[in-house]
Amino acid sequence: MTTTSQPSTTTVTATVPPARNEPTQIKSDVDEKVANLSAKRDASWPSVLFYIHLNILGLYGIMVLFTNAYFTTVIFTVFLSFIGIIGVTCGAHRLWAHQTYEANTFLRLFLMLCQTMAGQGSIYDWVQYHRLHHRTFKTSDDPYYSEKDFLHAQVFAHIRNLSPKQEYLLKQVDMKDLEADKIVMFQKKFYWILYLIFFVLLPINAPLEYWDDSIQAALFVTFSLRYLIVLNISWLITSAHFIWGLDKKHKPSDSNMIFLVTKSYWPQYHYLLPFDYQTGEFGNYGSGCTTALIRVFAALGLAENLKTMTSDACKVGLSRSVDTGCPLVDCLTDAGKESMERLPRNHYLNKDKYF
Ligand SMILES: [Zn+2]
Repeated sequence: MTTTSQPSTTTVTATVPPARNEPTQIKSDVDEKVANLSAKRDASWPSVLFYIHLNILGLYGIMVLFTNAYFTTVIFTVFLSFIGIIGVTCGAHRLWAHQTYEANTFLRLFLMLCQTMAGQGSIYDWVQYHRLHHRTFKTSDDPYYSEKDFLHAQVFAHIRNLSPKQEYLLKQVDMKDLEADKIVMFQKKFYWILYLIFFVLLPINAPLEYWDDSIQAALFVTFSLRYLIVLNISWLITSAHFIWGLDKKHKPSDSNMIFLVTKSYWPQYHYLLPFDYQTGEFGNYGSGCTTALIRVFAALGLAENLKTMTSDACKVGLSRSVDTGCPLVDCLTDAGKESMERLPRNHYLNKDKYF
């Protein structure tokens, strides 16, 4: 009895191969768990109050700018706003979120301080949200409402808590590369001290101490208005596709070919191939301050391994996808990597020849 009721080892192995079935079982369990989580996002009342106050104080700052601020304060505010935006575009977005180039310690330290001047939370948190945004782009799980409209992406996304489902997905984002970056982890650990010193106290102190401007100018122009400007411009990184992206109602018939060969249809290109350092955050490609700065950093020896796509690599990836039936993104990414191996390291200095 005992002998006949025991299945043979051969039978078990043939019918239930554990190595193959276990990951599938785990995956289906995870899918079921995620599907059961609530997708409802509640209002974050501290964020709502912060948003209302910042807008009122920032708008009051515009009045002070024209009536009660030295020209030096205006220039200083523009400069600090630029520094903060560069910290987000050049640092958090292109360097840390997408690794479009590599930076040495000095440049990473500089960009970390610049990103602190944006007042948007630590690099680690910013990148984690941005990677989830890319992973869930145009779905209801996107924390920046990319399946809805510009107002949702630019405003509502920032005054609501994540849903339990999004919280779960956020924890699944791979952050090992940032966890290995000592500068990023240092900023994460001491973020609020750095924020208080570099984003709040030093900028407010400078107009008062160095050129005797009024307290109103320091508080409402250098701080409130600057905060409002930097936040709104930085938030465009995840909402600009509503402005500069393809309008489905007016999609030209040859759009795919034009987009792939000339890369003119930003930002769909960025969501397809985010590793390209030349993709601008605000509707441009190959131009703009951030791209120019990355080239300058590379020319100075502070950055290297600038990743990009040549037009020829786009064509190769496209035809390979058609020939083999492999996913388009995989074919384009592989063709891009192959073409990068053939490009000289200083290709960014001669973009007319290599792109
Ligand atoms: Zn991105």
